[in-house]
Amino acid sequence: MSETRKPLVVGNWKMNGDLAGNAVLLSGVLTGVAGIDQGAVGVAVCPPFPYLSQAAQVLAESPVQVGAQNVSAFENGAYTGEVSAAMLSELGCAWVIVGHSERRAMLGETDEQVAAKAAQALRSGLGVIICVGETLEDREQDRTQAVLARQIEALASLAQQADPNKFVVAYEPVWAIGTGRSASTEQAQAAHAFIRAGLEAIGFRAASKIRILYGGSVKPANAQGLFEMSDIDGGLIGGAALSADDFIAIVRAAALARG
Ligand code: PEP
Repeated sequence: MSETRKPLVVGNWKMNGDLAGNAVLLSGVLTGVAGIDQGAVGVAVCPPFPYLSQAAQVLAESPVQVGAQNVSAFENGAYTGEVSAAMLSELGCAWVIVGHSERRAMLGETDEQVAAKAAQALRSGLGVIICVGETLEDREQDRTQAVLARQIEALASLAQQADPNKFVVAYEPVWAIGTGRSASTEQAQAAHAFIRAGLEAIGFRAASKIRILYGGSVKPANAQGLFEMSDIDGGLIGGAALSADDFIAIVRAAALARG
């Protein structure tokens, strides 16, 4: 964790929740963040689309921001089932996750589509959290760097418009997502340093200010070790974000790892 980059911890709720359960979870998150130095860590939660208004209302006066899990690459029009960046902004979202590996793998999202979604979101004033990461097969065949380089290079057109406060990359090795098997601190640090160097190489002049989150089976027990690494600036949290206690413990670990 670097002193110059404020860590960020983002909960990706995926397709989980209901109105009653969300109310309990959001209230637990609110209570938990109240005891954490807000200057030391940013916090956001990303519920499914139908619950964004609920989260935005509950979190309105709080430091916890709201994000969505996907956005259309198009501004508006005849795109049935899609949700635009402007709609997310209007609902109170500050962030949107793009290019999650579940969408890349199951829904066939390409690097180009991910970049187009991110561009559209940035144009609407949203912050983007762009997910990259290799599969187990990629890692076993020594293709991790090649895959990360390809995914990062697809973002080159965003280099000029990327405000480091609003442009975040999440390194999520696919083999670590939801598996209980996190990357080691060394594996994660090496990938993060590679991503940062890659951003710089394709024209992100503020690469040293861009936050790179780690995602993949982050739990209270392994968060601190990961967040202490010099290029890991917080986390994108899946399963553990569905428990307020676990999520808050991870947020606290990020706040403490600062500096
Ligand atoms: C994710 O899906 O973004 C994720 C990191 O999930 P988990 O923490 O459950 O591995």
